[in-house]
Amino acid sequence: MKNFNLGHGILHFPLKLPWAPPGFVNIYLIENDEGFIMIDCGVNGDEYFDELKINLQNLNIDFSDINLLIGTHMHSDHIGLSGVLREEGLKFGLYENSEEFIPKYNDWTDRFRLISEFAKKQGAPKEFVEDLNSITTPSTTGKLTTPDVLLKEGEIKDISRNLEVIFTPGHDISEISIYDPSSKIIFSGDHILPRITPFIPIHDEETSMLNHYVDSLNKMKSFEHTKIAPGHFEMIDNPQNRVEQILLHHEKRSEKIINILKDGELTGWEVTKKLFSRPLDAMNLRLAFQETMAHLKYIESQGKIKQKVSEVNTWSLT
Ligand SMILES: [Zn+2]
Repeated sequence: MKNFNLGHGILHFPLKLPWAPPGFVNIYLIENDEGFIMIDCGVNGDEYFDELKINLQNLNIDFSDINLLIGTHMHSDHIGLSGVLREEGLKFGLYENSEEFIPKYNDWTDRFRLISEFAKKQGAPKEFVEDLNSITTPSTTGKLTTPDVLLKEGEIKDISRNLEVIFTPGHDISEISIYDPSSKIIFSGDHILPRITPFIPIHDEETSMLNHYVDSLNKMKSFEHTKIAPGHFEMIDNPQNRVEQILLHHEKRSEKIINILKDGELTGWEVTKKLFSRPLDAMNLRLAFQETMAHLKYIESQGKIKQKVSEVNTWSLT
């Protein structure tokens, strides 16, 4: 079992996940006067709880030493175990808007119902819509109730170490990054990752998550000379480069979609199939569809394409 000392009183270990990639989620422990603040905790399940305990024991840390557990965002690989850890006495904090989304976190049938309605309107075939409607909540999600602490943007109160919350929605509507001024490390959750570009979902009819995401990426540009400690994979030594790479990826994908639409109007589903032409399994097809929708809404907000609302909607250049 590996753990790492990042200096400035920051410890880190990767905790196993039931799926790969990424295979592991990064757990960070930041020392303060009373003990430690922990960032993220992995999925729910006895096996993962035991592994977390062993990792903490290796570092000589008891649950009672952890004075706050912060979840970077509302995905099970980051907060699935939070319910069990709260039973162990840990205080749990999420961004202040999280409360509103707790029912959807706990009930995947409800969450995917919205996406299936979207898919129907975007011309997806019956099997795809039915697949979305058959999804139930996995046990790795755990059970989420209102957090003990609702974090606000800016300095976190009552923790005897200066840590700042940066609201960075996009990959998730509640995502935050945590900035530690003394080490100049930003704990980015899944907002910025090395190796892969974070998935951008459909949230609801009105919200363009890619617009939020691009704004959140641009927000990182004001943090110079920092390092990023991401939710998965290794540390990022040059965050500004990574931000530029991810922005470029989304610009290129947007250009591709515009080119696809040059041949005439298409449904969202048809755009998905042209954009992701290789065969995909059910999960990756769901991700591909949502990514495509996120891009279509983003390009629409720039005034370059428009959506015609009908029984099945179509997209075309303006
Ligand atoms: Zn994650």
